[in-house]
Amino acid sequence: MSERLTKCPLCKSGHFLNHQELIDHAVTKESFVICKCTQCQLLFTNPRPEETEIARYYEFPEYFSHNDQSSSLTQFIYNLARKQNIKKKINLIESYKNSGRWLDYGCGTGELLSAAKNRSWKVTGIEPNEKARGLANAKLENKVFQSIEEIRETKKFDVITLFHVIEHIHSLRKTIKSLLKHLKPDGYIIIAVPNPESWDALKYGPFWAGWDVPRHLYHFNKTCIKGLEELFTMKLIDEKPMKMDSFYVSLLSEGYQNQKSLGNFLKGFTSGMRSNIEAKKTNNYSSNIFIFQKR
Ligand SMILES: [Zn+2]
Repeated sequence: MSERLTKCPLCKSGHFLNHQELIDHAVTKESFVICKCTQCQLLFTNPRPEETEIARYYEFPEYFSHNDQSSSLTQFIYNLARKQNIKKKINLIESYKNSGRWLDYGCGTGELLSAAKNRSWKVTGIEPNEKARGLANAKLENKVFQSIEEIRETKKFDVITLFHVIEHIHSLRKTIKSLLKHLKPDGYIIIAVPNPESWDALKYGPFWAGWDVPRHLYHFNKTCIKGLEELFTMKLIDEKPMKMDSFYVSLLSEGYQNQKSLGNFLKGFTSGMRSNIEAKKTNNYSSNIFIFQKR
């Protein structure tokens, strides 16, 4: 069953227009319509699969973030990038806060939290995918839960991270509000999302891997991200580019656009590089990390 939204899932405005039709290149080849809210500029899939129906769209063997093994070259590159990213992410968090309680929402197989734990963070994870959660819990002494409701209300965190997660969440407003309730005063909420206005997004158009419909339910441009300040009790204090993402996204996009060939690697790499160079001028990197503080 699909669900037709009558209001913007972020700002609740009833004013939105059909924006683009996109295909699920990765799994089903089904097509989906993306709407654009005229109020907050959120792009959102509408109609969209209901939460209980979305699981089948994640069912393909190499859904990367839920798997520990490297079975293809693209996945090998993804895993390599992930390892480097973990170090970068921890350094970023520690530039704001040295230690304390860290909640990673959508923690996947738990690599980031595992590394954070080794640096004496008290870690908790949320992961709806059962298999990924099992792998994470094996590393993290059962500190990973299926949903936020399983964490007791009085438990507060210094840092809450959502790395490429928020675009997957059906109950968007409710989840952000409930996360803010679990954040200490002055705590940090860190949100990383793909950028639909990046150079690689414009270059690949409907083949851009960052669309990833229908798994990605939303796409946020910078205006939309800034708008979160007014919608929720938080302040945007900083943003950082994720420069590795442009390579990975370009590589995947080449695969969607062309037949699989070795030439895609060179083209994907070139596009990834170009995207980062262009973003130096426009500041529209392929993906960005936004750092919010509770107010
Ligand atoms: Zn809106």
